[in-house]
Amino acid sequence: MSDKTIDESKIKQEYEKLKNQLKLWSRQYYYEDQPSVEDSVYDQNYRSLQDLEYKYPNLITSDSPTQNVGSRTLPGFDKVRHDVPMLSLGDVFSKEELSNFMDNLNNNYPSISEYNCELKIDGLAISLLYKNGNLVQGSTRGNGFMGEDITENLKTIKSIPHKLNRSIDIEVRGECYMPKASFVNLNKRREHDGKSTFANPRNAAAGSLRQLDSSVTASRNLSTFMYNVADYNDLKTNTQSGLLNELNNLGFKINPTYEVVKNMSDVDHYIDKYTDERDELSYGIDGIVIKENNLSLQKDIGNTVKVPKWAIAFKFPPEEVETKLNDIEWTVGRTGVVTPTAIMDTVKLAGTTVSKASLHNPDYLNEKAIRIGDTVKLHKAGDIIPEISEYIASKRPSNSKPYEIPNKCPSCGDKLVHLDDEVALRCINPKCPAQLTEQINHFASRNAMNIDGLGPKIVQQLFDKGLLNDTASLYNLNREELETLDKFGTKSATNLLTAIDNSRTNSMERLLFGLGIRHVGSKAAKLISEHFKNMDSLMSSNIDDISSIDSIGNTIAQSIVTYFNNSEARKLIDEFKSLGINMNYNGNDIEPNVLQNSIFNNKTIVLTGKLSRMSRPKASEWLENHGAKVTGSVSKSTDILIAGADAGSKLSKAEKYDVSIWNEDQFIDEMNNNE
Ligand code: NAD
Repeated sequence: MSDKTIDESKIKQEYEKLKNQLKLWSRQYYYEDQPSVEDSVYDQNYRSLQDLEYKYPNLITSDSPTQNVGSRTLPGFDKVRHDVPMLSLGDVFSKEELSNFMDNLNNNYPSISEYNCELKIDGLAISLLYKNGNLVQGSTRGNGFMGEDITENLKTIKSIPHKLNRSIDIEVRGECYMPKASFVNLNKRREHDGKSTFANPRNAAAGSLRQLDSSVTASRNLSTFMYNVADYNDLKTNTQSGLLNELNNLGFKINPTYEVVKNMSDVDHYIDKYTDERDELSYGIDGIVIKENNLSLQKDIGNTVKVPKWAIAFKFPPEEVETKLNDIEWTVGRTGVVTPTAIMDTVKLAGTTVSKASLHNPDYLNEKAIRIGDTVKLHKAGDIIPEISEYIASKRPSNSKPYEIPNKCPSCGDKLVHLDDEVALRCINPKCPAQLTEQINHFASRNAMNIDGLGPKIVQQLFDKGLLNDTASLYNLNREELETLDKFGTKSATNLLTAIDNSRTNSMERLLFGLGIRHVGSKAAKLISEHFKNMDSLMSSNIDDISSIDSIGNTIAQSIVTYFNNSEARKLIDEFKSLGINMNYNGNDIEPNVLQNSIFNNKTIVLTGKLSRMSRPKASEWLENHGAKVTGSVSKSTDILIAGADAGSKLSKAEKYDVSIWNEDQFIDEMNNNE
C-alpha cells in the first residue's frame, strides 16, 4: 500500500470516529435530553469535523452532523411536517470570526444596511400554527423537516396565545425555555426525589415539552419568546425588527432586548452589554444572534441545508475556573436521600462566589472520578448551577487515593441502600436523626404548621439536647427546657411555646402537608382536606376515592394510601390526637355574613385564560374567601367558568357541558357588588 493510501485511510478512520462520537452526543442531547459532555466540548469536536470536511470534501456523508439539524423524533408523538424547514444557526466563537463573517456578507451583499441583534435564548425551537387566529398545532423542530406534535403540551404554557388579536393564518416560530428559577427548583425537587437532574435549562425545557401527559408540562412553568415566521408575507413588515414588533401586536411574547445596528462596532457593544448583564436575566442565554435585518434580502441571501446564510450565532465562551476540592460532604434529606456536595476553595464564577457544588448521586461521582485534594474545573451548568466539569490530571497529588462512596448514613450510621432502580442512595432508618430534624423543619414551616420562631438551628439544638425525637414531641416541650437553649430567655421560650400551642388548632390541610407524604404539596393537601373534611375519613379512603378529586392524580392518591397503611404513621396520628391536634378541615374561616351575601358561596368555579386586572391566584383566593370552591378543570359539576383572554380548551369544554361562562368584566362587577 502506498503512503498516500495509508494516510487517506487513517484520515477516513479519524473522520468516522469523530462523526460517530458527535452522533452519539447528539443522540444523548436531543433524543434523551441528557447530554454527557459540555456544549463547549461538543462545539470543539464539531469544529474539528467541519475542518476535516473542508479539507477533504469527498469524506462528507449525508449522516454527518454538519448536514443535519437536531435529531429524530420521539415515538409516542404524531409527526408534523415543516413545509418550510426549521433550521439551526451557524456559529462563531470569537469577535474576530464574527467580524469576518460580517465582512464577507457585506462584501457579497453591499446593499445590507442594518443588522438586528437578539439574545440567543437557551431553549428549544418550537413552531405554532394558527388558522383564523386560532392555535391549531404546535410542534418541535425535530430534524428540521419533521417535528413532534406537542400541541396539547404547548397549550399549557401561559405565554402562548390560543387566539391572536387578528384572525389570520400564520406559522410562528420561536424558543420555548425554562426560567432559571424554575430550573433550579425542578432540579432540587428531582434530586430530593432521588431522580436524575437536568444538565441545563434547554434540556429541562425539551424534557418538559416532550411529555405524554400535558399536566406534567403545565407544572414545569415554561415560557416562550417568539422571533420568526415561516412566511414573512403573512406580516406587514419587511424587517426582522418590525417582525418582532408585529408578533408582539398579535399577542406573542417577544424578547424586548433586540437592537437594530449598523456595523461590527455596534454589535461589539451589544455583545459586551449582555455579556455583563446575562447573569441578571431571569432566563438563560448562550450567545447573541446577529441577523441581516431586511427580510427580502434574507430571502435573496438564502440558506445552506442546515443554517441561514444571513444570520450567525456568537456563542459565549464557557466561563470556567480552577479550584481545589477539599472535601465531599454527605447530607441526609427529609425522605432519607443522601446527597454528596463538593466543598472547595472559594472562587468567583459568573458573578457569584462559589465554594460548594452538588455532586448529585454516587453514579455521578463515580463518573467524575474526582478525589479529595484534586484541582478541578468549575463552571455553571446552564449558566446557573455551579458544577465540576473534570479534575486536572496533571495537578493530581501523587499520594491521592480514589474516593470511596460511603455505605453508612453520615447521621445515624445505618447501612445506605438503593431503592428500586433509583440512582440515589438512601438511609431507610425511620429514626435517623438527620431525617427527623429535616422532617420537623418541614412540619414547622410556613405552609405546614407555621410555627413561628422554630427555625432549623433551634430544631438542631433541641435534638442535640435530646428534647425532641419526632414531630409529636414538639408538643411536650416546656418552658424550662426551652430556656436551656442558646440565647433563649423567658420571653423567647414563652413566645415559642405559644406558637407551638397555637398550631394545635390549625386546619387539617396544614397537618396533612406537614406530615411530608411524598408528592403531597400544600395545594394538594388543601384540596384533599376540603374533600374529606377530617383525617379519619381520609385514612379510611382508597386510591379511587382520593383520585376522584379534581386535580389529584393517581401518584398522589397511591402515595397517601401507602403512607397511612404504615402502622408507624397511624401511631403518629393517634399521638397527635392525644396531644389535642386538630384533625378537621376548618374551612376558610369566612364570616357568616360574607357567605350569606356571596353569590359565589358553594359554587364550583374554574378560572382560565389571562386576567388583565389581577393574577389568577389572587382571583382564586378572593373567590375562596367568598365561599367558592375553585378547581382546575371543567366538569359537569362546574357552576361558572371565568374566562380571561386567550381561553382555550376549558372554554370549549364549558360550552359542551353548558356551564355558565363569564368574562373578566362580569366577574369584576360581581366582585364589586359583593364587596
Ligand atoms: P444552536 O442551539 O447552537 O442554535 C440554533 C438554535 O438557536 C435555533 O434552532 C433556535 O432554537 C435557537 N435560538 C435561540 N434564540 C434565537 C434567536 N433569537 N433567533 C434565532 N434562533 C434562536 O443550534 P442547534 O442546532 O439547536 O444545537 C447545536 C448546539 O447544541 C451545539 O452548538 C451544542 O452547543 C449543543 N449540543 C450539545 C451536545 C452535547 O452533547 N452537549 C450535543 C448536541 C448539540
